Amino acid sequence: MLVGHLAVGLAAKRVEPRISLGTLILAAMTADILWCLFLLLGIEQVQFGPGMGAGNYFEATNIAMSHSLLMNAIWAALFAGIYFVSRRYPRGALILFFAVLSHWVLDWVSHRPDMPVAPGFHRYFGLGLWTSVPATLIVEGGFWVLAIILYARFARSRSRVGTYAFWIGIVLITLAWYNNVAGPPPPSARTAPIASFVFFSLIVAWAYWMNLLRPTNIPPSAIN
Ligand SMILES: [Zn+2]
Repeated sequence: MLVGHLAVGLAAKRVEPRISLGTLILAAMTADILWCLFLLLGIEQVQFGPGMGAGNYFEATNIAMSHSLLMNAIWAALFAGIYFVSRRYPRGALILFFAVLSHWVLDWVSHRPDMPVAPGFHRYFGLGLWTSVPATLIVEGGFWVLAIILYARFARSRSRVGTYAFWIGIVLITLAWYNNVAGPPPPSARTAPIASFVFFSLIVAWAYWMNLLRPTNIPPSAIN
């Protein structure tokens, strides 16, 4: 999933406006960002090839460090722990814990049964939403649209920049997602993790920027 994870961040901002949208989206994308790094380091492996259905052009031969349920829980605890140590805000830490963990649940919905439970434990799960392009567009796209509406009505822009930069970002991300779902496989398996890492980093940076440009109605002193 791509926009499904971002939707978690947008919706979580509504639940907990004190946390920056950038931090929430970083949390929801943690597993994928680690996945890029682990692929580059050779810790994880995927095989690219012609796939069936949405984004199914890779076979996850080894993604247990970034994407297993156990490791996701550990990354979630680490993320929440770092946040708690720096902000001393337990509710925020708890929400970030679940935002990181939500990645496994959403990927379990979208992946074929290749989602690991723990490193070295060879049982895999997945509901396979990605095997159907139309179903992916409807379910993941629907979740994305709902989260955008929820966020945009809640965190309103005070400037034109905040309006344009938000909607241009949304359109670009949606197009990239559509290409990911319905387009061809990436041209090179070697550069794919680098390209993905840059793309994910840009999304997180954009989200931090949106958080500044689209304030919510909470006092600045309450911002974490
Ligand atoms: Zn993922």
